Amino acid sequence: MLATVDPAASALYPKCLFNAATGLACPGCGTTRALHALLTFDPIAAFRFNPLLFLLPPVAALWIALARRAGRKRRAWASAAPWALALAVLAFTVWRNLPGYPLARVGDGLRPPFAPGPPASGLAARP
Ligand SMILES: [Zn+2]
Repeated sequence: MLATVDPAASALYPKCLFNAATGLACPGCGTTRALHALLTFDPIAAFRFNPLLFLLPPVAALWIALARRAGRKRRAWASAAPWALALAVLAFTVWRNLPGYPLARVGDGLRPPFAPGPPASGLAARP
């Protein structure tokens, strides 16, 4: 369904409660649109909707690999991972809500701001 039904133009998908309550983008905002873009073979748009989806898995894999190589220091690496992840997600959330954030913003619909044509309007944020 996600590949065929546009999340920005359908009421079938749930709205982001954080965005509805605050007007700000949460770390997950744009995930549905990003997955739709991926399923329609547009990875660049998908990245612009939610770069965290692309950045977090390789960083986590690298972290795990480094922790395994650390040997005795493994515990310290492992215990620091959740805090580092939380800090990264928090930093991303703050950054994406600052003026000048270069990627797609909440309410951009399926058209990233760099695309030609009139901006999408009246579209609510989707998680
Ligand atoms: Zn959200």
